[in-house]
Order: sequence, then structure tokens, then C-alpha cells
Amino acid sequence: MKKVLSKMNLQELEEFCLSIGQSKFRARQIYNWVYLKSVKNIDDMTDLSKRFREELKELAIVSDVKIAKKQVSSDGTVKFLLEFPDGEKVETVLMRFDNRANLTACVSSQVGCAMGCAFCATGKRGFIRNLTPYEIINQVLAIQMETGLKVTNIVFMGQGEPLLNLDNVLEAMRIFNDCFQIGVRRMTVSTCGVVPKINKLAEIGMQSTLAISLHAPTHVIREKIMPVEKKYDIDLLKKTLLNYTEKTGRRVTIEYILIGGLNDTPQCAKDLAYYLDNLNCNINLIVYNPVAGDSFKRPKKEDIYKFKYLLETAGKKVTIRLERGLDIDAACGQLSGKA
Ligand code: SF4
Repeated sequence: MKKVLSKMNLQELEEFCLSIGQSKFRARQIYNWVYLKSVKNIDDMTDLSKRFREELKELAIVSDVKIAKKQVSSDGTVKFLLEFPDGEKVETVLMRFDNRANLTACVSSQVGCAMGCAFCATGKRGFIRNLTPYEIINQVLAIQMETGLKVTNIVFMGQGEPLLNLDNVLEAMRIFNDCFQIGVRRMTVSTCGVVPKINKLAEIGMQSTLAISLHAPTHVIREKIMPVEKKYDIDLLKKTLLNYTEKTGRRVTIEYILIGGLNDTPQCAKDLAYYLDNLNCNINLIVYNPVAGDSFKRPKKEDIYKFKYLLETAGKKVTIRLERGLDIDAACGQLSGKA
């Protein structure tokens, strides 16, 4: 069986090179080609001798992750359906915002998801399995290999609940930092509110951004759309976040999907401002995107701006997240992993 170069760290590449009679220096060259230049083929590793490349092709491949489907949105967002060797598939989205040089990859952390949020396409599939650290980083490699572009920011907001696969997510973040040279502050980990794992992140003093999918200002509304509320309710979540911000010194991002008639009323805005009162946070409002088979509505434009205004007058920092990839089902909550 051939070795997969993108499944090896520098030390493993060095051991591999030594085992085939090459120097450690060759490992560093391969490492740069895989992670920094993200070439698709061993033939493209042009500072290796032709003879060594031929030998390497007999023994190894660059990646074993296939692009099963690629869709390009009219706004430039690209959605990739990636297939792993066991046949499981996940979606990864590349977003580029016109006014910024940043290229953001939205990566998946699990195949499917156990959390069952009512507005989310992934949740409808249920949980299938965790992704390994290398399956997570190979999503970014696949993007870089396919587009020739360098990803600058990572958000763990694709399929799955990242904190239920925390060890693998943290290891992937370490590799993104070490091998892809993506700064820790350019990574965001999102969660629907898995309290014990947020406490773990507080203990380790995570310096990446923590994004909380809150989506409701009260227990009664949150319970309707997010089953996690039954286990870790909104009051416990608040205490946990206060502890987190105190321990890490970092501001959290509050994600809030505005769903027409459900959580977008002026009273909801006031309740949300009250709930977040003493928490160091930014609020990201997301406009609900329709998912086939559910009954939620998009909010009215005037309700979106009124909601924002009410939060701002309460002293909160609020942005409305730009919609990306709506026409290719790549927007928030639309990733389902379907072919
Ligand atoms: S929103 Fe996130 S946590 Fe909730 S079901 Fe979807 S993928 Fe899982």
C-alpha cells in the first residue's frame, strides 16, 4: 500500500525518507511542497531529482481525498464535496469576500452531526463518524491543490459539532498553525454550547476565536430549535462563557440565526441584549437560509435591521454576516453532505 504524504508530519516524513535511503533534507522539501505549495502531484515537486520523483511515485501519493463534486456560486463561493477512502463524504466551503484579501475555508469536523438543530441540514443526517486530524487538514489541502490559492483563515463551522471531536480538532489546528502557517487568531471554532468542552478550552487558554451558536435569547425559544438546550441550558452556558472570557482574555462571537417570526422580534432583541449584558462578545446575525423539508421562514428585511438597531442601542457590537453561496446550498446551515 502506498504511503500518503499528506498524512505525515515532518518527523514522519523524515523517518520515511531515511527508510528509503534519502536524507532528512528531502523530507523538508516534500513537506514544503505538500503543505505550503500544495501541489497535486509528485511530478510537480521540481526541486527533487527526476530519479527520486520516479521512486517516490512508486511508494507514495500526495493525498487520498477525492473531490467528488465542486460547485461555484455566483458570488465566488466554492463548495467542495470531498470523499474519503472509506466512501464517506463531507462538504468544505471556500469563501472570498470582495473587499478583503482573506480566503476563508469553512471545514467540517464530523461526518453528520448528533446535535439535531432544527434549522440545520447536517443535523438531519444524524451522526456518522468523527473526522481524523488528517481528514480535517486535507479539506484545506484539497482546496489549495484545486485552486492554487492559499487559505488564510479557517472556521470550524462546516458539518459536525467540533467540540464533540475536540482532540482531533485541536490537533488539526496545531497542524494548520505549524504546517500551513495559519495563525491561531485566524482560526475560529464554533459550538452549539457543549459546556464541559468549553471549560476545557478555558483551561488550555485557547487563543483562537470561540463562536457560540446561540440562536435564541431565552430557554423557551432555544429549546424549540436546539436539543442541546435540554442538557446545557442557556443560564449554565452564560456562566461558562463568563468563565471562558475571564480565563482566556478573549472575546467570544455569538452567532444568531434570525428566523422569521420565531426569534427575530423586538422583544427577542431586548432579551438577547439583556442575556449578553456583561459578556465580552461580538454578535453575528445570520439570516436564515431555507433548508428543504423544514417549515422555518426567512426574516423580513425590516425586522433584521430593527433587531440589529435594538442590540446596538443596548451597546452591543453587531454585524450581519454576508451571505455566501446561497445558490449552491453552501450558506450557513445548508451543508448536508449530499451529492
Ligand atoms: S448547526 Fe452545527 S451543531 Fe447543530 S446540527 Fe448543524 S452541524 Fe450540528
